[in-house]
Amino acid sequence: MGLRSPAEFKEGLRDGREIYYRGELIEDVVSHHDLGIGVEHVALDFEMAEDPLHRDLMTWDDPNLGETVSRYFKVPSDGADLLNRREMIERSTRLGDGVVLLIKEIGSDALFALDLVTSQMDNQLGTEYRKRVGEFIQTCKKKDLSLAVAQTDVKGDRSLLPSQQEHPDYYVHIVEERSDGIVVRGAKAHTTCAPYVDELVVLPTRAFKEDDAAYAVSFAIPVNAPGVKLIASPFGSPPANAFHHPVSSGHRMIDTLTIFDDVFIPNERIFLKGEWQYAGLLANTFVEYHRFTAVSYKPPLCDLFIGAAALLAHYNGIGKASHVREKLTKLISYAETVRGLSLAAAHECSQRETGSVVPNVIYSNLAKFHFANGYHEAVSWVQDIAGGLVVTGPSEEDWLNPQTRPYIERFLGGSQGVGAEERLRALNLVRDLTASTFGGYNEFLAIHAEGSLETQKITILRDYDVARCVELVQRILRS
Ligand SMILES: Cc1cc2nc3c(=O)[nH]c(=O)nc-3n(C[C@H](O)[C@H](O)[C@H](O)COP(=O)(O)OP(=O)(O)OC[C@H]3O[C@@H](n4cnc5c(N)ncnc54)[C@H](O)[C@@H]3O)c2cc1C
Repeated sequence: MGLRSPAEFKEGLRDGREIYYRGELIEDVVSHHDLGIGVEHVALDFEMAEDPLHRDLMTWDDPNLGETVSRYFKVPSDGADLLNRREMIERSTRLGDGVVLLIKEIGSDALFALDLVTSQMDNQLGTEYRKRVGEFIQTCKKKDLSLAVAQTDVKGDRSLLPSQQEHPDYYVHIVEERSDGIVVRGAKAHTTCAPYVDELVVLPTRAFKEDDAAYAVSFAIPVNAPGVKLIASPFGSPPANAFHHPVSSGHRMIDTLTIFDDVFIPNERIFLKGEWQYAGLLANTFVEYHRFTAVSYKPPLCDLFIGAAALLAHYNGIGKASHVREKLTKLISYAETVRGLSLAAAHECSQRETGSVVPNVIYSNLAKFHFANGYHEAVSWVQDIAGGLVVTGPSEEDWLNPQTRPYIERFLGGSQGVGAEERLRALNLVRDLTASTFGGYNEFLAIHAEGSLETQKITILRDYDVARCVELVQRILRS
C-alpha cells in the first residue's frame, strides 16, 4: 500500500479504541468536536505526502520494498537524510501554524533508537530483537502507520527506582510471561497524539538496576489493543474561535495518561524484555534522535514570535525605538541559534556500527537547552512590544455588534492608518501564543517536553570533550 490518503488515515482511527475525555468515553475521535481538531491537524502529514509541492520531500522510493513510502521511516544513513528529516519537520510545523504534527516524527525516533540498541543487544547477548524491529519498520512503511511514543512513566517518587517504589505500578512492567508473549501493566504520562495514531511505541524512561528487570520493557502495540485505555487531557487548548485564537482553534496536540491494564504483547512486537542493562542506553539513544526532532520543530514558533513582534511594533508606531530594535534582534538571535544548531547537528552527525547516523548530541542538546531556557524571556519580549491590549482588548462579539464596533474602529486603530481589525487580529495572535491556555501549554512544552532542562545539562557535560580543552591548557602551562 505504501501511502495512505488523509481519509484512509482518519478511517483507520475508527477502530474501537478506548479514549476518555472530560469524564466520557469517546465514540469517535475523528468527529469529536474537540479531539477532532487534533485529527485534522495531523492529517496534514498525509495531505503533504499527496501534494506535488511537498511530495518529494515527504516521501521516498524504497528500493528494497519497491514502493513509495513516508520518508519518516527511512533510517538515516548520512547527514543529507537528517537534513531532509529536519526540513520535513520544520516545513510541516510551519504549515501547521507553528504546531508540530508528531505522528511519525517521534515514533520514527524511537524506531531508529531501537534499531541501534537491539543490534548491540543481539551482538552481545545473542538475542534476535533487531529482526523484529526491522519487520515493524517495514510494517510502518507498508501501512503508512502513525505512531506515538509512550516513554515517560508516571514515576511516583522520582528519587526511587521502580522496584523501590511504594506502588509496583509506577513504572510499566511485565506481570506475566507466556510462550507467545508477555502481559504488561502500568501507565505512561503525557503521551502526545496517542488518541489519533495507529500504534504506541513503548520505551523505558531511565536506566534500571537488576531488581528492576521486569520494568525493562519495550514494545509496539495498536492503540485499540485490549486493556489499552487513554485518558486525554483537555488542557492543551479548549475549543476556541478563530478570531480570538487564530492558531489553537485549528491546530492542537492532545496528550494522554496511557494505561496498560494487563495488555498482552505478542512476541513479534517485543523489543526489550528484562535486559535491564540496556534500558538506559535505549532511553538515551531515543533522546539523541528525539531532541533533534525537537529542535527541528521549534523554529516556526520562534518565527511567529519575530513576525508578531515586528508587525505589532509597526502597528504601534514603535518600530524605530531602540529598545524595540534590540528586542527584535534578540528574538532573531534566539530563533537562529536554535535553527543553526539544529542544522549543525545534522551536518556533524556520527555514524554508528549499523551504518545509520545519529545527530550531533552536543548541538542538539545545546539547541534544546537554549530554546527551553530562553523561552519565557522570549515571550516577555513579544508581550512587551505588543502592549496590554493583548489581555484587555474587546471580543469578537463586540467587534461584530453594530453598537460597539464603531467605537472599536475609532479608538483602536494603529499607526499610519492601520485599522483596528488588523491590529486586534495581531494582538489576538500574541494572546493565543503567549497568554492563553494554549500559550501556557507551550510554556510547559518548552520546559518539559523532550526532557526537562537538567537532562540537557547532564548530557552536554557528559558528552562534551572537556579533556580536549584541558589538554590545551596543559600544553600552554608546559611551554
Ligand atoms: C507537552 C508535553 C508533551 C510531552 N510528550 C511526551 C510524549 O509524547 N511521550 C513521552 O513519553 N513523554 C512526553 N512528555 C514528557 C516529558 O518528557 C516529561 O514531562 C519530562 O521528561 C519531565 O518529566 P515529568 O513531567 O515527569 O517531570 P519530573 O520528572 O517530575 O520533573 C520535575 C522536576 O523534577 C526534577 N527531577 C526529576 N527527577 C529527579 C531526580 N531523580 N533528582 C532530582 N531532580 C529530579 C526535574 O529535573 C524537574 O526539575 C511530554 C511532556 C510535555 C510537557
